[in-house]
Amino acid sequence: MRCLRSIFLLTLLALFPLCAQNRSDDLSKLIGEIWSGGQHASYLQKLSDEIGHRLTGSPGGERSEQAVLQWMKELKLENVHLEPFRMPARWERGTASAVVVKPYARKLTVASYTWTPGTRSGGVMGPVVDAGTGKPEEIEAIKSKLKGAIALVAPAGVTLDEVIGNFYRTPEFVKECAAAGAVAVMIASDKEKTLLYTSPVSFNGEVSPMPAVSIAREDVEFLRRLISARTPVEVKVDLTNKLGPAFMANNVVGEIRGTENPEEEIMLGAHLDSNDLGPGALDNAAGCAALLETARAIKQLGLKPKRTIRFVFFMGEEEGMIGSTEYVKAHLQEMANIVAVLIMDIGAGKPLGWFSMGRTDLDGEIQSLMAPLAHMGVSLIVHDTFAATDNAAFMAAGVPNLVMLQDDAPYFPVHHTAADTPDKAEIRDFTSCVVALAATTHQLADQPKRFGKRLNAMEIGKMMKDSNIEYQWRVAKIWPLK
Ligand SMILES: [Zn+2]
Repeated sequence: MRCLRSIFLLTLLALFPLCAQNRSDDLSKLIGEIWSGGQHASYLQKLSDEIGHRLTGSPGGERSEQAVLQWMKELKLENVHLEPFRMPARWERGTASAVVVKPYARKLTVASYTWTPGTRSGGVMGPVVDAGTGKPEEIEAIKSKLKGAIALVAPAGVTLDEVIGNFYRTPEFVKECAAAGAVAVMIASDKEKTLLYTSPVSFNGEVSPMPAVSIAREDVEFLRRLISARTPVEVKVDLTNKLGPAFMANNVVGEIRGTENPEEEIMLGAHLDSNDLGPGALDNAAGCAALLETARAIKQLGLKPKRTIRFVFFMGEEEGMIGSTEYVKAHLQEMANIVAVLIMDIGAGKPLGWFSMGRTDLDGEIQSLMAPLAHMGVSLIVHDTFAATDNAAFMAAGVPNLVMLQDDAPYFPVHHTAADTPDKAEIRDFTSCVVALAATTHQLADQPKRFGKRLNAMEIGKMMKDSNIEYQWRVAKIWPLK
């Protein structure tokens, strides 16, 4: 192990001509420590296999809060604590079945969405009505047929923009179908080979107005073939989900206190909660493991960053970024002290660069942060804005917020499914992500000049005008921030 470490360090030293300076020395050491002694794979496995799924409010979710609290204490981080916030309702998965009862009996492959109620005892039955891709005009066109029916929706699109568009549209069409009198909705899984998907179909942790299931694509095609042949199709859906009252979940916080400018803070964030069909390995045990390993490596080497590095593990992300939004609202007065927020939420795929969330003014500074990682292929800046992970409320507060841009090829085929397991993390790419996160953090914490600047109210207003972000912030109850 020692020899291996020396080889890594020699290679790294050759890559950094400025290594005579202490900062570059520390950066090289940090990168070497992660390649040679990184514990991120172990954290990933513990979160995924020993704790299991971490749905907010579930026993696994609570175990994960305690485990991360304990690990940060063992790493001797400072100010380690829980920050509670309110979730409007508890949700527990029951059984789910859907069967075709007409024209003949056939079992369908379904799983319940989270935060949807159970059906009445014995299930609900009705004709299946094809609601297309669920666009407002498509729902409007079939509204009169939805009373007592089961709506079948297959949202379209594969690009990031389309996926995020669907994320924001789904709760809307569920509400519209419920208002038209539908008794349940079946939503086509976007995954392959009968793999089912789950998430809430409501925002902000509220219970959706009617039962909703994910249905295998193959079954959607089967039902649509019957419908287009004008064969009447009836389906029975039976869900036994349990709902509970409001409860408190916890963000988990720890920090490495800065030595020269402790009031200036680099925040690393990742959501600790997951959905519950699988153990949420890529989404987002991997991101949490990257934060933990960054903390471990810095402490192990005894590095003393100038600025404070704060690690925040958010809960309630899958229900609409609730933990991070509550965090920002509770700490509004401190937002001016946050130099930058770095968010991990795209699994363990190769790091490619950063999403800068509309901040073209940061390009030069981000490029300089990426320079020591160029040999790993970390070189891209994407300016898109989106409110689909824990950066969203920080963006609304004007704080520079970067989401790591990663190769999402391993991520999207399995995220929110039973197949989101630790074996999907390829160790070399995963280690590269951790290296990219730790190296960026170290530079932000130690470079002489403070990174970026906080946007003022006028600049935030301009960003809202120039992008679609205002709609997303409002729906997710991020905006107005108060
Ligand atoms: Zn996620």
